[in-house]
Amino acid sequence: MGTKKCPYCGVDIDEEASRCYNCKEWLVEIIEPKDDDLFNQEVQQDFLPTALFAWFLGCFGIHRFYTGSIPIGLVQLFTMGGCGIWAYIDFIMICFGMYKDGQGRALLNYDRRLGVTLFVISLIPFVIVLFMILFLLFLFLTVSSTGA
Ligand SMILES: [Zn+2]
Repeated sequence: MGTKKCPYCGVDIDEEASRCYNCKEWLVEIIEPKDDDLFNQEVQQDFLPTALFAWFLGCFGIHRFYTGSIPIGLVQLFTMGGCGIWAYIDFIMICFGMYKDGQGRALLNYDRRLGVTLFVISLIPFVIVLFMILFLLFLFLTVSSTGA
């Protein structure tokens, strides 16, 4: 943990301090956003790319990195998006406009109709898998009942 000098009274204070313990002055620095940084935390991201990142790359936490939630992004990266479940919950939150970025802000240009449409589309693979399971179960029961 480093230290810095208070610009008002000159005492050594914690580098992370936002207020000088000695003279009680606030030390608010203006953080200049870098325009070339894709994962720039100052930038408020759009709904649609965030939703697509969550759906296609959610297991790598890319939607979290994209919206400035770097720590959660790293956890998701190393847990494969919480085995996909966490990433899918994020995706649902994004679709229903409940997702917040790293700064606690909502996504830009949220469109409820588009969000619900994306959510319904996302259910298709689950429905297909469910039908395949039911079909195999039906097949298995048919074969075992005729064989008996
Ligand atoms: Zn001071």
